[in-house]
Amino acid sequence: MPPRAVSVALPVPLYGTYAYSVEERHAERVAPGSRVVVAVRGRKVIGIVTDADPPLDPGRKYRAILDAPDEEPSLTAPLLATCQWISSYYAAPPGIVLRAALPALLTGAGKPSPEPRSRRIAEIANPLATLVERDATFRRSPKQREVFELLESLGGRVPVEHLEHQLGVSSSVITALARRGLVNIGKETTMRDAFARRPRKPMAALEPTDAQRSAINALTSAAAGDVFLLHGVTGSGKTLVYIEVLRHVVDAGGRTAIVLVPEIALTPQTVDRFRAAFGNKVAVLHSALSDGERLDAWRAIRSGERRIVVGARSAIFAPLSNIGAIIVDEEHEASYKQGEAPRYHARDVAIVRARAEGGIVILGSATPSLESWANARRETYRLLTLPERVGGGAMPRVQIVDVRAAANGQRAAGAETSTHDPRPATLRRVLSEPLDRALRDTIARREQAILLLNRRGFAAFVQCEACGDVVDCPNCSISLTVHRTPERMTCHYCGHAEPIPVACARCGGPTVKERGLGTQQVERLLLDHLPSARVARMDVDTTSARWAHADILDRVARREVDILLGTQMIAKGLDFPNVTLVGVIDADVGLNLPDFRAAERSFQLMAQVAGRAGRGPKGGLVFIQTRLPGHHAVRAAVEHDYRSFVAKELLDREFPPYPPTVRLANIVFSGTREVETMEVANRGAEFLTKLISGGRVETVHVIGPAPCAIERIKARWRWHVLLRARRSSELTRVLSYFATHFEADGGAADLRVVIDRDPVSLL
Ligand code: ADP
Ligand code: ZN
Repeated sequence: MPPRAVSVALPVPLYGTYAYSVEERHAERVAPGSRVVVAVRGRKVIGIVTDADPPLDPGRKYRAILDAPDEEPSLTAPLLATCQWISSYYAAPPGIVLRAALPALLTGAGKPSPEPRSRRIAEIANPLATLVERDATFRRSPKQREVFELLESLGGRVPVEHLEHQLGVSSSVITALARRGLVNIGKETTMRDAFARRPRKPMAALEPTDAQRSAINALTSAAAGDVFLLHGVTGSGKTLVYIEVLRHVVDAGGRTAIVLVPEIALTPQTVDRFRAAFGNKVAVLHSALSDGERLDAWRAIRSGERRIVVGARSAIFAPLSNIGAIIVDEEHEASYKQGEAPRYHARDVAIVRARAEGGIVILGSATPSLESWANARRETYRLLTLPERVGGGAMPRVQIVDVRAAANGQRAAGAETSTHDPRPATLRRVLSEPLDRALRDTIARREQAILLLNRRGFAAFVQCEACGDVVDCPNCSISLTVHRTPERMTCHYCGHAEPIPVACARCGGPTVKERGLGTQQVERLLLDHLPSARVARMDVDTTSARWAHADILDRVARREVDILLGTQMIAKGLDFPNVTLVGVIDADVGLNLPDFRAAERSFQLMAQVAGRAGRGPKGGLVFIQTRLPGHHAVRAAVEHDYRSFVAKELLDREFPPYPPTVRLANIVFSGTREVETMEVANRGAEFLTKLISGGRVETVHVIGPAPCAIERIKARWRWHVLLRARRSSELTRVLSYFATHFEADGGAADLRVVIDRDPVSLL
């Protein structure tokens, strides 16, 4: 029966859905998941039908939907169900979730059915078969003849853009040919492949190792809804396992699949492997796609033309039908968590969606998140292990360099450091002697090195030697970072920039010192110290251009770079067999953060970057420079011992309890005025405390309110309340009630409340 009324989720931050009546003429095109155009306060907006048979109030007259632009629902039933789960689990307004699930061009009511991107094609309409005919036709127009014959030589059918731009044909000649009926100009829909620019390398067929084979067997005989944690050390060949599973699921099984990677730009090698294996079946969803390109890709996926989607976080919403497998590579990566509403974690959404679709999930990592590890131990997930590198490759040898001893030079006790280091002080601060020596040796052998420093800019902060004052951002409670090119200080949270001071603003003292290393400083130092080395720096500042990441990495692959220096960006799944040395310049950057995941993050980063070394037959060596050589994260990284790291870290998360021991939600209150922000945080905490004691949800605890670790960002004061829960369902209930009933009453302080469930960071 066609629907007479529907519930519609609107793209506004409201938690309800709204009923609209459906006129006869639209009824055929309206079903759950359909986009509809409705009027909201005199404005047309796109809403999504969530229910085609809602309970109605018989006395009320409902407004009719204005239009139903789609022949088929934009969201399939399993995808709609997944979005509804996100809305309730993360306490996010349903319309905001649905908007995140669709390409931007499909969410505007101005043009509900945007034209597919198309290009103009010039095609010969009249072949002018005889020479006589041809001579007669072109007697007074030799230019037209030239272009006509050019078209012929190119097969008779060429994009106009190509003629004009690559071949230098003037548009007036093409127009003239068209006017005379000799050439037709038609439109052709295109789907531009985001990765088309990259050469497609054929891939050697690899025979799986025994360990890979047994993982593949387990995965291809799995039941719908199964979740696997594939724990494989770096270089153990996880990608081949994914590819073989997709051959089974997609090629043999006729189903579809999603492959999530942390960030496409940083993992071109992994993407290349999927493209080599599956060619045109693959759609690559890249953050640099234009809105039009994104829509084209979305349509090709929705129509079944592309059956494997490779992309970052938001690719979890790809409009595939009949998904057989969802792969989450590097599942521990924080980038799977969205930083704005809806604040979903793509790994967890993957599990919900795969269950709705009747597919399996593979979470792959060399350093799984503690949450996934705990789930595997509880046998909620099935654990598969690839314990060794393929082809008998050894894990690289990791050495700690205690920079406290190195900095003290001859004053330190112990044989290793008792000799005086004669090198300049600036160099000593960056490269310890052993790392320096190894770097020279590596370059001399024509091998390559990776240096990690997880702090961009030149220096971490500027401090007055006389009074100790540090220059902070005026908008954020965080120090400004010194940059050299261009010369200035900038805030990494809000982008504020100002000149580097020549004197202290507080005491007027002239001796301001730059402290804390950044990647720019290390680059400068390497250029001075190793002038013959070819250094490439990869961080946010060098990769703003659309293809910058891939260009840098391709240069490394072609061995045009001796030293790749960068932030965490360089730690991801790179596979360069000629990299034999890895140096972690300052392991303490992350260890000292006031966040419960600081140790986990640091361990993952060290283990991942160490895993870039020694992937070829030449073996590898890793140096970790630190002032905390006894820290369990450092020790476990040295031993390549994930299991001992998690064992210790899981204990640390019991008292005080943090995930995975408990479930967490962070509620952040922010506003432009300090006192009002604190007050609203107090009210929020009280509201929650009352709610919890009144609602008898004993397993949820309220912690705080307290100022956030970063008290102020972008001129907004920040306070937070933590909710800690033993049971997930009770936390869902509390958050849902809070989201729909607590009023912040903004006023002049512009107060806002953000609910962040399963936060990846509490800063
Ligand atoms: P991981 O993602 O587990 O770190 P990769 O999937 O990048 O590892 O694989 C590491 C390297 O080993 C790659 O160069 C890959 O081509 C190679 N490799 C993987 N499996 C095999 C195999 N069965 N035989 C030979 N080489 C393999
Ligand atoms: Zn700032």
